[in-house]
Amino acid sequence: MNSSFLYHAWGLYNHKCTREEYKGNTIILHVESKERQKVCPQCGHSHLVKNGFRVRDFIGLPIGGKKLIIRMKVQRYKCKNKECDYDRQEAIPFATGSRSYTHRFAKYVVGLLKGMTLKDTANLLGVSWDTIKEIHANHLEHRYSLPSLDGVESIAIDEFAVRKGN
Ligand SMILES: [Zn+2]
Repeated sequence: MNSSFLYHAWGLYNHKCTREEYKGNTIILHVESKERQKVCPQCGHSHLVKNGFRVRDFIGLPIGGKKLIIRMKVQRYKCKNKECDYDRQEAIPFATGSRSYTHRFAKYVVGLLKGMTLKDTANLLGVSWDTIKEIHANHLEHRYSLPSLDGVESIAIDEFAVRKGN
């Protein structure tokens, strides 16, 4: 698959698609990094060797009614420098931590939830209610999280209104 299409459609710019698979209503894009990591991010030496991989699935932006899965071969690298203990999986720029969906998918869900219920959104996208709920909760947490009060010794309360007119 053309890499500018991968980029514009799903935000994958460091990855190439090695295979496309069509299963019922689902399209699976098999991807992996275009370039292997060479330099150790910890010690700066170019002694990185491949140390196994795992395959992870991410829900990506759908194509109309078709569900889209990005199946990534996630490479693990180990540093051969004796003074360094670096041994990690490569970074995944299009998703957060252990989440099973891409940033773009989460953004799309948040947009749909402005006019749809959690249940309708889950049904439309063919994903579990829990996934939609998680995206919604993360969005609210991110949006309404309080600023950190570390190091603050006292807070002065100014006049405020809970509702207009109060
Ligand atoms: Zn190293």
